[in-house]
Amino acid sequence: MLARAGVPVVHPLPAVGRNLQNHVTHFLSFSLKDNNTAPLNWATAMEYLLFRDGLMSGTGISEVTAFINTKYADPAGDNPDIQLFFGGFLADCAKTGMVGESRGNGSRTIQIFPAVLHPKSRGHLEIASNDPFAHPKIYANYLTHPDDVKTLIEGIKFAIKLSETKALKKYGLKLNKTPVKGCEKFKFGCDAYWECAVRMQTGPENHQAGSCRMGPRGDPNAVVDHLLQVQGIDRLRVADASVLPAVPSGNTNAACVMVGERAADFIKQRWLSQAYSTGGGDVSNLLTASETRHAARPRAPWQ
Ligand SMILES: Cc1cc2nc3c(=O)[nH]c(=O)nc-3n(C[C@H](O)[C@H](O)[C@H](O)COP(=O)(O)OP(=O)(O)OC[C@H]3O[C@@H](n4cnc5c(N)ncnc54)[C@H](O)[C@@H]3O)c2cc1C
Repeated sequence: MLARAGVPVVHPLPAVGRNLQNHVTHFLSFSLKDNNTAPLNWATAMEYLLFRDGLMSGTGISEVTAFINTKYADPAGDNPDIQLFFGGFLADCAKTGMVGESRGNGSRTIQIFPAVLHPKSRGHLEIASNDPFAHPKIYANYLTHPDDVKTLIEGIKFAIKLSETKALKKYGLKLNKTPVKGCEKFKFGCDAYWECAVRMQTGPENHQAGSCRMGPRGDPNAVVDHLLQVQGIDRLRVADASVLPAVPSGNTNAACVMVGERAADFIKQRWLSQAYSTGGGDVSNLLTASETRHAARPRAPWQ
């Protein structure tokens, strides 16, 4: 691939760009009995300015999430295989800004979307050329493993059942049963229909991970080692979602922050120990003022 793109090979690591993973979902849309959205107004603005609270402080029901075990979940331990995401129920812009204004176009909807947390499908990505600004070629390969489809269908069935519970019934949730384009020939709601629907309207999450996978030194399927160092190349580290060998069982941001924090610690450990081992106890030339303060900070026993 590198030769094709005209990039000289410094160190061959065939695992680069492999093992691409992402959570994958399908959006279910429900209409609501109450079609009126709550418009923002001067009172909600004051509530936010004074108390950082109220409609303007929220993002609708995307603040809600849930984890479930389908019948395909690993029975050993607490290992949910579906995360339910929710969307909609946002505040609306106002016409007048006065309290009590009612808006509604009769089409208020919410979404529930179940995401497969432990996908078995694997994609990959490649550089398209030696131009660093050229977009890479990304082969997501979503739902190429049949188990991902089965799990997603279970998640869909659960989401529909959830919408029919007593607690949610009072909001009059009604599933939009307009057949997904291309799936009209299947009876709505049967497994074959859902299989078609998830393939025609695949909803990738924003949780791409795994394409510079971490692993033991010398593992041909790994790119970086446990210190985030690119295997076989000194002083080159990768610190982002790509090092995670498997996409985490939930939203990925916290895991990425953790990877970044660890990278900072590894780099400091290396440079600090070098400075001391070469007799240069003064590390001020290697660290910024805040890094020096951080390095001097007493460490907890587990750090
Ligand atoms: C729309 C969206 C919504 C999301 N919502 C959530 C959520 O609610 N909760 C959650 O946990 N996760 C969420 N995620 C996922 C989460 O944001 C990502 O998993 C995480 O940010 C990935 O971190 P990263 O460090 O791997 O990559 P990034 O955060 O993408 O960081 C890559 C950085 O590299 C920089 N960069 C790129 N090219 C160059 C270059 N040539 N030179 C220098 N810098 C460069 C970019 O500017 C960027 O700052 C969301 C993602 C998206 C896209």
